[in-house]
Amino acid sequence: MAIYSKDELINMVKGAGLRVTDHRLLVLEYLAKVKQPVTVYELVEDLRKKENIDQATVYRNLSSLHEAGLLRRLDFNHGHAHYELETGHASHQLVCNNCETIEKIEGISIDDTVKKMLKKSKKFKHTTTHSMEIYGLCKTCA
Ligand SMILES: [Zn+2]
Ligand SMILES: [Zn+2]
Repeated sequence: MAIYSKDELINMVKGAGLRVTDHRLLVLEYLAKVKQPVTVYELVEDLRKKENIDQATVYRNLSSLHEAGLLRRLDFNHGHAHYELETGHASHQLVCNNCETIEKIEGISIDDTVKKMLKKSKKFKHTTTHSMEIYGLCKTCA
């Protein structure tokens, strides 16, 4: 996963047409560091340890950053959202059916599969990026 400098994150916010605020940067910096998509709950818990930020503020910032296309929102059938930085690169996750374990797997390409899908598609001209969730059982639950 790419490492983003603060300047790059600032440019991302500006490029998306949003005002650069401390809270937006805080949320982005956090998401740029984590290794897998996080829930709003995890984000609030972790940010609160260091910063004086409340849940409503985190929600508001997540939703504006998501609307601006800077975040990816994933569901995993958990009934709550998970967020990660929209890097423009594909994102692949293994998801446990039984508990809330998820694991992001890096370094695997399904570009050939995507090409095949596009070939079969009657409605699509090109793809930009993708997120893939594969469901199963984690080692604790299996
Ligand atoms: Zn979850
Ligand atoms: Zn599990």
